[in-house]
Amino acid sequence: MEKKQIDWSNIGFGYMQTDKRYVSNYKEGRWDEGGLTSDANVVLNECAGVLQYAQTIFEGLKAYTTEDGRIVMFRPDMNAKRMVNSAKRLEMPVFPEERFIDAVTQTVKANAAYVPPYGSGATLYIRPYMFGSNPVIGVKPADEYQFRVFTTPVGPYFKGGAKPIVIKVSDFDRAAPHGTGHIKAGLNYAMSLHAIMTAHAEGFAENMYLDAATRTKVEETGGANFIFITKDNKVVTPKSDSILPSITRRSILYVAEKYLGLETEEREVCFDEVKDFAECGLCGTAAVISPVGKIVDHGTEICLPSGMDDMGPVTKKLYETLTGIQMGHIEAPEGWIKVVE
Ligand SMILES: *Cc1c(COP(=O)(O)O)cnc(C)c1O
Repeated sequence: MEKKQIDWSNIGFGYMQTDKRYVSNYKEGRWDEGGLTSDANVVLNECAGVLQYAQTIFEGLKAYTTEDGRIVMFRPDMNAKRMVNSAKRLEMPVFPEERFIDAVTQTVKANAAYVPPYGSGATLYIRPYMFGSNPVIGVKPADEYQFRVFTTPVGPYFKGGAKPIVIKVSDFDRAAPHGTGHIKAGLNYAMSLHAIMTAHAEGFAENMYLDAATRTKVEETGGANFIFITKDNKVVTPKSDSILPSITRRSILYVAEKYLGLETEEREVCFDEVKDFAECGLCGTAAVISPVGKIVDHGTEICLPSGMDDMGPVTKKLYETLTGIQMGHIEAPEGWIKVVE
């Protein structure tokens, strides 16, 4: 298979159309057999449920080339499971987990020419999603749905090393108690756009959201979970029903305990204790871990001791171990690496 002529290290994080995508339709209570298509456009009725009442969910994962030349995906079974939970919360039909894994595998295989080569730092981003497709005007769930998967090559998240970022404590809320913060739904992102544009305009890279009910506890950012490192090298991550359960964060906790012998804690994290942590990072598929150097709360600066030049030492160890597992330099826990071809 001949790779496409793409300047892999300079493509950024944008949409680039690839050759094939997967589509399956749900109608009269069942999913059809589904398959690949070349048509990148979706034609919908003007009253489609997704357009009127935002009934849509998604996932995000990556395929990449390991050192020995295999194309692999990282823990797609976790994305399949999470999408089941998202579907249930938005009254959408479940797309079976084994079919999800088959669909992403087929899509990656069909676009193998777009999977960046080993060492480029670039990856093939995979976007599975599902939406209500038939006309809905009275407020209720749609009767028909479409599940799709497309892929797009994305560049290395960090060009020239992972520099710590500065974030702010947001005055906006991301998710309500008992709301939809724990599922991967487009609606959580629609309402975060104003908050992120505001933060960017003020010169911050990201928002730290606090719990909406008391505004005393750390939740997450718009699209990444927090990890903190205590001064005695414990890995702490906030626990809350309104946080999206990041697969990267859950993998980091496992790696911390099982590979690095670090203690971990998933518990409520008061904003008041943030000033006492040694390191802070944001975790998600895109960057794996993005180090945070400074957190600003209405003019009060919390400067993490790890500073603004580099990732903190423990964060770096976690980052190197997890990316080493992903790239095949370090033996992966059973089932973490799914070989596509
Ligand atoms: C997708 C997402 C994350 C990161 O999850 P990963 O599975 O690690 O990619 C974190 N927070 C939110 C709100 C998300 O939507």
